[in-house]
Amino acid sequence: MTSIADAVAWLDERFPPRLAEDWDTPGLAVGDPARPLTRVMFAVDPTLDVAQEAVAAGAQLLVTHHPLMLRSVTSVAATTAAGAVVHTLIEGGCALLAAHTNADAARTGTNDALAAALGMTSTAPLVPDVVDPNVGSGRVGIVTPQTLAEFAGVVARALPPTAGGVVYAGDADGEVSRVAIVGGSGGSYIDAAVAARVDVFVTADMRHHPASDAREAARLRGGKPYLINVSHAASESLWLAATAADMADALGVTATVSTLNTDPWTGHVPSTH
Ligand SMILES: [Zn+2]
Repeated sequence: MTSIADAVAWLDERFPPRLAEDWDTPGLAVGDPARPLTRVMFAVDPTLDVAQEAVAAGAQLLVTHHPLMLRSVTSVAATTAAGAVVHTLIEGGCALLAAHTNADAARTGTNDALAAALGMTSTAPLVPDVVDPNVGSGRVGIVTPQTLAEFAGVVARALPPTAGGVVYAGDADGEVSRVAIVGGSGGSYIDAAVAARVDVFVTADMRHHPASDAREAARLRGGKPYLINVSHAASESLWLAATAADMADALGVTATVSTLNTDPWTGHVPSTH
């Protein structure tokens, strides 16, 4: 009989916890490792809707990208947001595990899946791990030469639909081939993307000043790297299906991916007049 502990061990081997950032809190947050496991659900975010979906599906383990409790908490009362999720999961007999920055860094994780979906080849870490240079933060690779506008379309079609969509900065007709990506909030990796001499840098949550400063600095180098800004949740969703399929094969469990879109933005009005 497969147990939750077996799933934890399988995930720890695939996404080694040592690869997680110091501030991160990956691993089992709710649940008893000794409990039997027949059904697993994967999702980006442990929202209450996702927890309820997992329980309704009969999952005994919910694997999410983002941890439920990233900062210290002093209460999991059901009247708190995180506590409501904890209560839903425990009462529904469902454990919760996060594979977060360890899944970003490891092979077959968040960034490898995003790179593959964008058609990137010759892919390597943008910032290699000091111990194992085959893993690390972000990815850099090559795509078939195309315009920035065309590649932004590739990015938009590769990701699940979100209200915010995909925006880009730079010459729509400029050619891109060398690409850097960082799934999630990767704006702080702009310097690494510049050092890697990429044509375009794809990430989420890029704020005004880092983006504006990067574009102004790029003018002095002929305009690159261009920027493509996407939904944070969408950019971190593409590794879930393959991980679920592989876990199902390895452990003989049923593993599915949540059908819910957890991007917090739900509406979009184009600001054209
Ligand atoms: Zn994230």
